[in-house]
Amino acid sequence: MNGAIAGNIAAVKERIAAASRRAGRAPEEVRLVAVSKTKPASAIAEAFAAGQTLFGENYVQELVGKLAEMDEPVTWHFIGSLQSNKVRQIAGKVAMIHSVDRLSLATEIDRQWGALGQNCDVLIQVNIAQEATKSGTTTSDAFDLVREVAKLAHVRVRGLMTMPPFFDDPEGARPYFRQLKELSKQIAVAGIPGVEMKELSMGMSGDFEAAIEEGATLVRVGSALFGERIYR
Ligand SMILES: *Cc1c(COP(=O)(O)O)cnc(C)c1O
Repeated sequence: MNGAIAGNIAAVKERIAAASRRAGRAPEEVRLVAVSKTKPASAIAEAFAAGQTLFGENYVQELVGKLAEMDEPVTWHFIGSLQSNKVRQIAGKVAMIHSVDRLSLATEIDRQWGALGQNCDVLIQVNIAQEATKSGTTTSDAFDLVREVAKLAHVRVRGLMTMPPFFDDPEGARPYFRQLKELSKQIAVAGIPGVEMKELSMGMSGDFEAAIEEGATLVRVGSALFGERIYR
């Protein structure tokens, strides 16, 4: 693959650093989650060799296959919609789940991580724009969900995640990023025991710079690193 992925990682990291500086933030505050869905283990290995250690996957089956196939000590985040009956397959294997949008899912995460004697860091996915086609809790339900999830012994709420509507112009997504940050501040102020609002997972290939300017700490970037996806 001629180092294309390594070059893309370097370019995206430079853009992350520039956006951080524009916003008066330290570039280290923003972590790059390399979204490797549909891409082969060889592409992930290539990115890993270029220094990228954190990867995001959307599909349980695909992630399980890559876990078996890869030797590299990769850190995985699960970022896709997750069915409760599949949680067991990824228990203990991902460092964070970005897509907790209902209590039943959090309860199953609690059960499965608890069985391993471990805790799972999660983000609450918020459907800020209330799009019918997207998962995520509503802004008004987010507070209650955080309070309920916070009671689970083996699940630790570490912040919020959102996927705004698609816009050709990244400026279109900015108000939604701003709203997620605002919601996160409100939840932080409530001081719910065990809850930390330190992570904001927002921004993808087309809009991660705007997201960083609005406070993102985790940007989920796929196609800008690995090229366009043919399917999904
Ligand atoms: C696919 C995906 C991404 C990455 O999208 P790109 O536009 O390829 O950067 C980020 N977040 C989620 C939840 C995704 O499903």
